[in-house]
Amino acid sequence: MRRVFTGHPAAPGMALGRVRLEQPARFSIDNTPLPDSETDAEVARLERAFAVAREDMAELRRKLHGALAREVGEFIDAHAQLLDDPELLEGLRAMIRKGHYRAAAALKAQRDRLVAVFDDMDDPYLRSRGEDVDHVIARVQSALARQTSSEEKKLATRVGEILVTESVAPGELAHMAGHGILAVVARSGSPYSHSAILARSLHLPMLVNAEGVLEDLRDGDLALVDGVRGEVVVHPTAQDLAQYRNWQREALREDQRLAELAHAETRTRDGHKLRLFANAERPEDIERARALGVAGIGLYRTEFLFLASTGLPSEDEQFVAYRDVVLSAGGLPVTLRTLDLGADKADAAGLVAAAEPNPALGVRGVRLSLRQPDVFVTQLRAILRASCYGPLRILVPMITDATELVEVRRLLEACARDLRTAGHEIPDQFELGAMVEVPAAAINVRALLDVADFLAIGSNDLTQYVLAADRNNDQLGKLYQPSHPAVLRMLAWVIGRARVARKPVCLCGEIAGDPAFAPILIALGLDDFSMLPDSILSQRDALSRCDRKRLRALAPRLLRARDNEAITALLDKAQPAA
Ligand code: PEP
Ligand code: MG
Repeated sequence: MRRVFTGHPAAPGMALGRVRLEQPARFSIDNTPLPDSETDAEVARLERAFAVAREDMAELRRKLHGALAREVGEFIDAHAQLLDDPELLEGLRAMIRKGHYRAAAALKAQRDRLVAVFDDMDDPYLRSRGEDVDHVIARVQSALARQTSSEEKKLATRVGEILVTESVAPGELAHMAGHGILAVVARSGSPYSHSAILARSLHLPMLVNAEGVLEDLRDGDLALVDGVRGEVVVHPTAQDLAQYRNWQREALREDQRLAELAHAETRTRDGHKLRLFANAERPEDIERARALGVAGIGLYRTEFLFLASTGLPSEDEQFVAYRDVVLSAGGLPVTLRTLDLGADKADAAGLVAAAEPNPALGVRGVRLSLRQPDVFVTQLRAILRASCYGPLRILVPMITDATELVEVRRLLEACARDLRTAGHEIPDQFELGAMVEVPAAAINVRALLDVADFLAIGSNDLTQYVLAADRNNDQLGKLYQPSHPAVLRMLAWVIGRARVARKPVCLCGEIAGDPAFAPILIALGLDDFSMLPDSILSQRDALSRCDRKRLRALAPRLLRARDNEAITALLDKAQPAA
């Protein structure tokens, strides 16, 4: 029988396919006996999980600084000792080999047994050590689940399916996209998450915050996902299917209409020239962007290279990838962003600490890069080597203070010297820019302009940090408003200061490609926009309807507006009818 589930639209488009349900691993431990033929592989998985857990802890230990280091370090050492206890691992191996347990089930049984032993102790200190056992086993369990989920998802995803899941990390999505899934429906998540941005870039319709889907959908159900309305229709009727065919026809017609704009210059209605750049994550995005007549690549997110591979990509691997990006841009400038891992983007190689108490305010972006100089220098060397093949600018994410950019420049210069000494051709000059996405960087932007060659405003993060509203938490959707007067004032300030300093400033958050924001951004004086290739034509269309003179004249009143309603009312007056 037909049923409709609703969620929040996160990536547009429609898709018709069969449901593949993915229950969260933590809810289900498989207790079925393991066949003889699989025991060796299962022991190997367990050992890998132990190794990952050990490395997670060593990493945590390395990152501890300051007063807590000794105290917390002692805990970590105690946990590490437990992990190294040969009896624990030997016991688990025996359970798998002789008892035909699966690794997760063996861990759980062992945990329950050990915790019960500690619970029975009289000494309160010894009793409390039961918690340590619990934490250590949870760590291994989590490493095991990470392995299982990515391996199984990768292997199990089949062409023509709609993934229905609790949530999906960007790394998993990057893996699955290559395996033919058609759409994603997640019970949690937000349209501003990195996964949602990636889904838009991969043309995968996506719904988030879709209640009831995990409980009520079944594997193999036929479902129609509507990423614009935020609906999943299960067992669609003939009428639903007719609507889907209509959508396909209309999408084709709209593509043809917009294609006529592909090589048009971008000018406002009153003739002011603008530059549209593309955001890209994969080489394919660049080809598509060039066909749309962009001025260059305004943001190339390099972390997806790290998310998609199982280990850390080597200098040569990165060099080839970046060089190909530059070559495929065919002489257009490319802005390559250095690693922005952390927060909701964890990598397979385990660079990001597994358990940060507050990851969005934690070690992410340049903070992570400066704490991992080996990894960072490898990336910088690869970028510098690629910069011989065409115009390449280097952009650094999550800058809070100008000193961080100065440090990056120092590292870059040292890398350039070493590379030249080793006989590499490295250009004399490179352009180094900062992302403005932390409020401190925006407020104190004059200091940043003293040391940066250009700026790129990351409005996705700037919005979350100005409003203290997690971009991944859909419950805060109403609060997370890039059009909030506080965000607009900050954008106007940064754009204005960059103009005074005569340094280029581009906006590369999602609003750059949102037609609803075109008049606002023109009013604030923005000339350079960077967006997903899919948004280029519709945004060019929207920008060409803007009357810049009228909108610029409106800016002072726009910046005095107290709320969103006042902003909308002002813009309605300023925009000529389409
Ligand atoms: C941003 O924060 O606006 C941005 C462009 O970077 P990301 O979405 O990758 O964090
Ligand atoms: Mg950002």
